[in-house]
Amino acid sequence: TAVMEKILLRRSSLLRDQQQAWQESLEGREMLEFRQSLPAYKEKDTILTAILQNQVVIISGETGCGKTTQIPQFILESEIDSARGAFCSIICTQPRRISAISVSERVASERGEKLGESVGYKVRLEGIKGRDTRLLFCTTGILLRRLLVDRNLKGVTHVIVDEIHERGMNEELKLILMSATLDAELFSSYFDGAPLIHIPGFTYPVRTHFLENILEMTGYRLTPSNQIDDYGQERMWKMSKQAPRKRKSQIVSSVEDALRAADFKDFSPQIQESLSCWNPDCIGFNLIEYLLSYICENERPGAVLVFMTGWDDISSLKDKLQAHPVLGDPSRVLLLTCHGSMASSEQKLIFEEPEDGVRKIVLTTNIAETSITINDVVFVLDCGKAKETSYDALNNTPCLLPSWVSKVSTQQRRGRAGRVQPGECYHLYPRCVYDAFTEYQLPEILRTPLQSLCLQIKSLKLGSISEFLSRALQSPKLLAVQNAIEYLKVIGALDENENLTVLGCYLTMLPVEPKLGKMLILGAILNCLDPVLTIVAGLSVRDPFLTPLDKKDLAETAKLQFSHDHSDHLALVRAYEGWKEAEKDLAGYDYCWKNFLSAQSMKAIDSLREEFLSLLKDTGLIDGYATSCNDWSYDQHLIRAIICYGLYPGICSVVHNEKSFSLKTMEDGPVLLYSNSVNARESRIPYPWLVFNEKIKVNSVFLRDSTAVSDSVLLLFGGSISRGDVDGHLKMLGGYLEFFMQPAIAEKYLSLRREFDELIQN
Ligand code: ADP
Ligand code: MG
Repeated sequence: TAVMEKILLRRSSLLRDQQQAWQESLEGREMLEFRQSLPAYKEKDTILTAILQNQVVIISGETGCGKTTQIPQFILESEIDSARGAFCSIICTQPRRISAISVSERVASERGEKLGESVGYKVRLEGIKGRDTRLLFCTTGILLRRLLVDRNLKGVTHVIVDEIHERGMNEELKLILMSATLDAELFSSYFDGAPLIHIPGFTYPVRTHFLENILEMTGYRLTPSNQIDDYGQERMWKMSKQAPRKRKSQIVSSVEDALRAADFKDFSPQIQESLSCWNPDCIGFNLIEYLLSYICENERPGAVLVFMTGWDDISSLKDKLQAHPVLGDPSRVLLLTCHGSMASSEQKLIFEEPEDGVRKIVLTTNIAETSITINDVVFVLDCGKAKETSYDALNNTPCLLPSWVSKVSTQQRRGRAGRVQPGECYHLYPRCVYDAFTEYQLPEILRTPLQSLCLQIKSLKLGSISEFLSRALQSPKLLAVQNAIEYLKVIGALDENENLTVLGCYLTMLPVEPKLGKMLILGAILNCLDPVLTIVAGLSVRDPFLTPLDKKDLAETAKLQFSHDHSDHLALVRAYEGWKEAEKDLAGYDYCWKNFLSAQSMKAIDSLREEFLSLLKDTGLIDGYATSCNDWSYDQHLIRAIICYGLYPGICSVVHNEKSFSLKTMEDGPVLLYSNSVNARESRIPYPWLVFNEKIKVNSVFLRDSTAVSDSVLLLFGGSISRGDVDGHLKMLGGYLEFFMQPAIAEKYLSLRREFDELIQN
């Protein structure tokens, strides 16, 4: 170690020489000048002193003030200056992979280096990092995984958690928490009054226009039909099909109340009439197109940033704009997109200034709200909605609907317009709707299903789940926690004592809902992965089967042709296979149109399949794809068993009467199927059970996406077949069987299952 110490000292002095050489070069001085103009730079000494004197420091400051690019650099530079450079190891987490990559590139270039010298990055499946890398930007997920294997973060000297949501760590290291929004005090009191540094910033004034002003200014008239274009239509179908989530419906009703109470009497009758046609469920691509061309024709130079809800909207809107005579003309408009999965070549373009006379228009998700700063923005269009996603796309609950953002998000979006000169912000909704927004967005811990979180707590060995969560910054409801724990026990991820089972360990390695993770795992074990990847991907995106209100019957019949075996999941597999075939002849879009399928969902399934496959490779469950498919891959009984394994305990019994059948679950009694389920059209189901993906309570309880399964499949695959708590599990399964069938038969089944389990264990 004495030798090691010497080597490190020598490397430290090399690092210092290199840093000084850059700072003294012409380019280096120019760069420093730029950096010194950032508000964060003025607080440099305060920040460094606070970090020296405290274990935990909280820093807040407006987006663009230099938190992400400067503060990690301050620490690095001061360590290098004091010839300790090679001894420090700074990790800075970013909520998204795209920001980790773009920020590390930026910081490396501010230091006159290439990536992989003193600055590097690491995101899942990708990274650049060298021997001398002392400052590493990574995603939160990467840090969490590192914590799994290395609880003390050996060798790490500073952890900077950027864009904090909820995190609790107590290690012997410096922890710096940063955020643009103002909830900082909450964190300070959580960390026993850790010091709180605010970086005062400034932006130029931004003029705010709400829908009423936009209509007045541009002369645009809203009608019911010009809000619903092809894409809007698709969205509308989707909206009408899904029961609103609770929180969303609360907000929507407050929006509707606000509209009802709104008083537009200051505006002309035309505008009042136009406003009364405004459709809160529709983002209004036509209006956006009109407004963008208005800005191009009438406004001063400056880039435009358009906040959309997600990449599917962004790509649809981009298609539409590209067909426009002005907006689609590359000599006048540079049309770019900014979202979590963009390529890095595209990413660079966003920061570049376009040629003279060309206007840059960037269509973005809320990633440009706080994580990515585009400097030359003067105009912001805000659709007012976001998909409440977080971290990477895989963590989403399936089929998230766009919902209204909070006031804080709106202010952030507006602020993007005033970075370099006074700006304009156009909100595509009336003022009264803004007034009805909530102040802050709910923290993720209160929004996400707790099951994955509970597994994570267990794998980080943080002790009892309920106790840990009760100490969280904003604790979820006790009942919700208990439900999640109970569920994890039933599916065999936790044993009776709340310890992770083998299955549970594997599930923590897959960042998807446990039920989907279970299907992937069994699919891999049974060499039947191909269809399972499609099913799991299909359950993670918007329902690919569209049901337009006016063509409901046609659409449902179209879905039926994919179904021969009483399974919505198998119908999806066939629809996808058909699309894949059609894509070979470049006829994928026609195929979707004919069959009432969403081409976007199909594409999303395609890329998610790849994601899931690489995740499985990470876990070591498979080594190559070829080995995970077999002749029996498409055996429908096998797939049925895997679906059952994943969806249990989502089961209901099928009771036939003369003409049709009725359904019952243990908890709810009678339940119904959604009309677009292939099983809803049948008069008989040749199996006694349905497993289902999701149930939604509207007036009655409705089941979405179901697959019929036999007694033996339920018996063998319902619940866990790992070596969890066999007796406890059998009791549970026995409960189901006894509830629905004669006790003698149930007993017989159970003894079979017991034999089976013993067989497996030996
Ligand atoms: P914060 O984290 O406080 O939101 P950043 O550290 O990300 O701010 O950015 C500070 C400033 O650095 C931005 O306002 C912008 O001027 C500049 N900047 C950041 N990233 C880039 C980039 N990739 N290219 C050019 N300038 C950048
Ligand atoms: Mg930042």
